[in-house]
Amino acid sequence: MRVAPNQRVASSNVRPEEVTNVALRVGQLDAVMPEALSEMFNLYRSNFNLPNAQLTIEEEAVSCRCKDCDAQFSLDTPVFVCPHCFGCRVQVMRGRGITLMEITISETEHEDTYHS
Ligand SMILES: [Zn+2]
Repeated sequence: MRVAPNQRVASSNVRPEEVTNVALRVGQLDAVMPEALSEMFNLYRSNFNLPNAQLTIEEEAVSCRCKDCDAQFSLDTPVFVCPHCFGCRVQVMRGRGITLMEITISETEHEDTYHS
């Protein structure tokens, strides 16, 4: 079962150990290294009480819009100049921040176990 962050799970007896995957989207502008994030997640997994959870990281490319000529373009380097009009009034549209995308819960374990 895949659960989006804004979704509620109908069943109330989901246990932390049934969480099999946590999916994050990481904007490339934040320069967070996915390897470092994975290592940190592995170290703190027991503290989070999610022993069976894997971490999936999707990197999001930086996408910008020029406020002067309205051109949209992607950025490979952190130089905020419009490649069309060379203007500096650039707005970042995508590729910033860390977003929780989805949590996956094991369904097989979930059906035959019930603890009140
Ligand atoms: Zn421009």
